[in-house]
Amino acid sequence: MFTQTKLPYNYNDLEPYIDALTMETHYAKHHATYTKNLNDAANKAGVTHKEIEELLRSLGSIEDATLRKVIRNNGGGFYNHNLYFSTMGPNCGGEPSGELAEAIAKEFGSFLAFQETFTALAIGQFGSGWAWLSADAEGKLYVSSSPNQDNPIIEGSKHVPILGIDVWEHAYYLKYKNVRPDYVKAFFNVVNWEAVAKNYSLIKKG
Ligand code: MN
Repeated sequence: MFTQTKLPYNYNDLEPYIDALTMETHYAKHHATYTKNLNDAANKAGVTHKEIEELLRSLGSIEDATLRKVIRNNGGGFYNHNLYFSTMGPNCGGEPSGELAEAIAKEFGSFLAFQETFTALAIGQFGSGWAWLSADAEGKLYVSSSPNQDNPIIEGSKHVPILGIDVWEHAYYLKYKNVRPDYVKAFFNVVNWEAVAKNYSLIKKG
């Protein structure tokens, strides 16, 4: 049984950057539906015993092509939104501190340079998808983007996302309409860097 992460704040807590109706629809409809569809398909495929990361890494072992595709899309949607909702919050934004800040400076030169690269990937993702900040076990950071509900794990990377921005239109259209860059800019005001740093420390070994 795959369980949707509990939202650690209220729907209206990310105002004015992300509006309450978008948050409610996104969490209670979109994410809930990905979760339900994943559970239904995982039951049929007999893979409910797997952790979600393990499941996304082993999609190739699901023999039925239709079920494999449903689990890729909805398992990705389940995982991606758990990360997205748990790395935002009210009274957040700013910049990370500690070892994550050091890793960002080492990999990208500065936080501002990272922000520019990440923003360009988020804006440049054609159609629906995501932009990611990921880390590997050595603590090296990566930025990338993925179409649909894919992510670096599904794509077979050894790095794991620690922050993701959803650039599907359902994530911003009610407030920002077609102006994705304004949503991406606003997103940085609600990033919970403490939560991202915790993700980083869990992935980085030693
Ligand atoms: Mn979404």
